[in-house]
Amino acid sequence: MKIGILYLCTGKYTVFWPEFYKNFEKNFLPGCPKTYLVFTDAPQIAHEAEPNVRRIEQEALPWPYSTMERFRIFLTREQELREFDYLFYANANLECRGPILPEEILPRGGRETLVAVCHLPYYGKPPRFHPYDRNPRSRACIPYNCGQYYVAGGLNGGQAGSYLALCRELARRTQEDLDHGVIARQHDESQLNRMVAEHPEWFRILGPEFCVPEETPVPNERIRVLQKNRFLDVSAVKGRSTPQNFIQRKWEAFRLNWLPYLWWARDTLLHKTLK
Ligand code: UDP
Repeated sequence: MKIGILYLCTGKYTVFWPEFYKNFEKNFLPGCPKTYLVFTDAPQIAHEAEPNVRRIEQEALPWPYSTMERFRIFLTREQELREFDYLFYANANLECRGPILPEEILPRGGRETLVAVCHLPYYGKPPRFHPYDRNPRSRACIPYNCGQYYVAGGLNGGQAGSYLALCRELARRTQEDLDHGVIARQHDESQLNRMVAEHPEWFRILGPEFCVPEETPVPNERIRVLQKNRFLDVSAVKGRSTPQNFIQRKWEAFRLNWLPYLWWARDTLLHKTLK
């Protein structure tokens, strides 16, 4: 069973790679041969002399293209990626907290050929409160009366053929959005969520313990998302967010906590679908 790990680290994100490699080698599907495809602008990376590490030149794109163009970026190596049985994408700052076994994480077959992980902050909340893209001009749009899970963009994968098909479709939709001057609300994560909403039967949906932000620990944590600010200046990468005044904060709370009821009632009455 050959596993390909898709790893993207351009600019400052290369800081995570040395420990990521050691941690995943030890814990992620232990015993399965893994190859790391590291898309980076760094001229050299740690561990690149290891036979299972392939450094792949990738220019550092500005935020948010650095993350949302990932599907197109992976497809630049499509032929090479076909040699694997399973492919997994992992955010640069993930850390397994112990062994992650095949039966826990691999898709179980049949129509289920892909894997995604519930995003902890939205786990168990009604879908009308999920931060799906709501802009009808985006290919990632999900009406307020649709959807079920909200999955994190940070860890996903599946059988290689299915995962590459997913990348092709999401790269196409991302480009279509860009052609219309649209960027989905949560970038690649929004595109992935739309696909999960369209075809939940294709996905093994893992619990949020497989992607736990370091800031909000849970007892059964399996994979941690390291707090980026401890390693790099995130505002230098993504831009500084402007501070909000009292009125703006109140409006924001109203918009997030109460308006979804109204939009949900509207979309339900209009029988909106994922067409
Ligand atoms: N990334 C990168 N270089 C950048 C920004 C992002 O390589 O300058 C990659 C990296 O793999 C990172 C992923 O895109 O883990 C997602 O970015 P980030 O973790 O900042 O997004 P978040 O998950 O916080 O939305």
